[in-house]
Amino acid sequence: MPSRPRIHFVATGGTIAMRIDQATGGAVPALSGAELTEAVPGLQFVGQIDVEEFANIPSEHMQPEFWLRLARRIQDIVDQDSADGVVVLHGTDIMEETAFFLDVTVPTPVPIVFTGAMRSASDPKADGPSNIMDAAAVAASADARDRGVVIVMHGDIHSARRVTKIDTSAVDAFESIMPPDLGKVRSGLVEFSAAWSPRVHVPLPEQLPRVDIIYMYSGVDDFALRAALERGATGLVIAGVGAGNVNQALFQGINEALAAGIPVVISSRVPYGGAQPLYSYAGGGMALRRAGAIFARDLNPQKARVLLMVGLGAGYDRQGLEGLFV
Ligand code: ASP
Repeated sequence: MPSRPRIHFVATGGTIAMRIDQATGGAVPALSGAELTEAVPGLQFVGQIDVEEFANIPSEHMQPEFWLRLARRIQDIVDQDSADGVVVLHGTDIMEETAFFLDVTVPTPVPIVFTGAMRSASDPKADGPSNIMDAAAVAASADARDRGVVIVMHGDIHSARRVTKIDTSAVDAFESIMPPDLGKVRSGLVEFSAAWSPRVHVPLPEQLPRVDIIYMYSGVDDFALRAALERGATGLVIAGVGAGNVNQALFQGINEALAAGIPVVISSRVPYGGAQPLYSYAGGGMALRRAGAIFARDLNPQKARVLLMVGLGAGYDRQGLEGLFV
């Protein structure tokens, strides 16, 4: 790596790029990536900064087509060898999904680092500038190479696979679920731990098929599952209870979906511990696995959905899909 690492920022929006709208009192998109990076004192000393305005939207507005475009663009940047590290500025609400999508579909040793902010640029204690600084330090670090896509927020480095947003408002809003954080950034010093997280790669599909998440709760029937299939879902992810269990009504619907050739992945609505087949009664995880469902293991429902969409989009069969959920 040259002495001055080239850091390529890709701005997509989020609270980091928002200001309070005087008319409504709520935050709205307002600042470009260039304005954000120029406002960070000392950023130019971390590396040679290049900024690309990809979008300026709240992450809730991101569609799977956006993920495909972003993945193609970042693959181009790394293939052309035009950056030593890439920083993606992104809204925090959907950040873990976009980051995991890129982790699966963009094979590169070049660090790809996501960051954002919990407080808008109007806030007197805005966290955007320090997150940008930390993300740039990680993107510029030779030690960050070959570690997959990471999220850097509040001085912590998380793998895209293991991280999840756990707080709606605190600046320390992200946590890595099994094992702990990948590392830390303190005053520009990047330090990785020995934490390990599995990685899978799938070739980037041309299109992403519809996959829906069905939530298990007391008394739920199969209406949402059937509605998803009627809307054209080609795969389902179940946010089961406990280690990945459902009631009889969902069990029945899942069995019918499996019999119709729809892959079903069982995840859990519980953040820690992962999904695993333990019970044999109707709706228990073991019964679900016997019926042909795939277990998401450590992946939460929204990330299991990302992986199932990518696998289906790339044309994987039932066995190929099962092999993705390692
Ligand atoms: N709603 C915002 C978004 O995800 C939240 C944020 O950026 O923190 O775009």
